[in-house]
Amino acid sequence: MTADRQTFVTHLECSMTGERYEADELHGLSRVGRPLLVRYDLDAVKAALPKATLEARQTDLWRWRELLPVRHTGNIVSLGEIETPLVPIPKSSGSANVLVKDEGRLPTGSFKARGLVMAVAMAKELGVTKIAMPTNGNAGAALAAYATRCGIETIVLAPQETPEVNIREIAAQGARVYRVNGQIDDCGAIVGRGAAEGRWFDFSTLKEPYRIEGKKTMGLELAAQFGWKLPDAIFYPTGGGTGLIGMWKAFDELEKLGWIGSERPRMYAIQASGCAPIVRAFEAGEEHAERWEDAATVAAGIRVPKAVGDFLILRAVRESGGKALGVGDPAILKAVDDCAKKDGLLLCPEGGATLAAYREALRTGEVDEEERVVLFNCATGLKYPMPEANAAVDRFAEIDLGAL
Ligand SMILES: *Cc1c(COP(=O)(O)O)cnc(C)c1O
Repeated sequence: MTADRQTFVTHLECSMTGERYEADELHGLSRVGRPLLVRYDLDAVKAALPKATLEARQTDLWRWRELLPVRHTGNIVSLGEIETPLVPIPKSSGSANVLVKDEGRLPTGSFKARGLVMAVAMAKELGVTKIAMPTNGNAGAALAAYATRCGIETIVLAPQETPEVNIREIAAQGARVYRVNGQIDDCGAIVGRGAAEGRWFDFSTLKEPYRIEGKKTMGLELAAQFGWKLPDAIFYPTGGGTGLIGMWKAFDELEKLGWIGSERPRMYAIQASGCAPIVRAFEAGEEHAERWEDAATVAAGIRVPKAVGDFLILRAVRESGGKALGVGDPAILKAVDDCAKKDGLLLCPEGGATLAAYREALRTGEVDEEERVVLFNCATGLKYPMPEANAAVDRFAEIDLGAL
């Protein structure tokens, strides 16, 4: 092996047909237009990496390197990908057993950093010099940051209604960013056109194989943080579903390493009722999800009308005994407000969606308060509009201090 460190990738595999693809070559989707999954020699990982060795390492994303695809240490492009904390929110959730995995602490303020740090490192390793991507905001920001850092040129297309802060952070971090009068899949179509003409590499969600590997680290981290016994349920705000698919894959790999048993958390895919294609397909018993027309929600990160990995999301949710659940914008905003006011943790709207869904699930008996539940807060609440706070004090007038 010419690599300057050991790595265990054997090949890639079509998630639909199982067809085999060579590692160390640039790939997009499989021949049937579905995501590719990275496969490892897990027996070799098991022999090379005793659990104690892993546990003795610094707790960042790269402690999992044997289970990650990057071959050459020199291709790792890092902005400090920490293990994110599990924060209890007893008052707003109504249970002492609910923990928020706060992904807002990651570089660029969202868990998109996990996927993009890996995908960009692999793009660098495989010689890509120009990348284009459709985004609802956070993915574009993470791409811009990591790609700029290693000299890859980026073009980012975002729906018209993408929050201003996202557009500006993408531009500030060195990408060329454009608003498009349409939804994220309309942006994706333009990216696809340029990719077909050989102008750039297409970094759309799940259209390159390595974002899943980065997102997989959420599942690896959870296993370690829970002492190798997974929680009872995970509530994941689902757009493209990369994280849910990635965690499900991580659990299988950990079981094959003998680090966890066969028990799995119930996986709950949470969507906004204004854009809930996965919920609709789940309820209809379908394997694929139709495009959701006229998508609208305050939770921009999960405003994804059509997901290329729909069948993988639905499969994981069903195998786990979980569900796909929709929540309305008022419940989302109420959950964000409650969590900040009662527990001091400012969630993003997508994180609020998981709390709103949890509270509804508690009410209907879908979960009980004794169960250990993880809610994903995928981005820092600071990137999103907050309620106005306009009160002022005139220091030249008489001040009623008791009224402050
Ligand atoms: C991208 C994003 C999501 C959805 O994540 P997927 O893994 O693509 O389903 C949820 N919340 C936020 C804040 C996001 O940026």
